[in-house]
Amino acid sequence: MGSVAFSCRSLGESCEWALVAPTEAEVLARAAEHLKCAHHVPDLSGELRTRLTAAIRPT
Ligand SMILES: [Zn+2]
Repeated sequence: MGSVAFSCRSLGESCEWALVAPTEAEVLARAAEHLKCAHHVPDLSGELRTRLTAAIRPT
């Protein structure tokens, strides 16, 4: 199994935060935590979740 990567900049944020995780579910969980802490996004709404999922890339 490979891993997947996500960078906050792909959401249009001027933010250098990025992560690599073994599964898309883990990326979503950790990205949700980062968005809450760093960008004051309380939860992943439908539209944001869709954009986030689309921004996840295989490494
Ligand atoms: Zn960020």
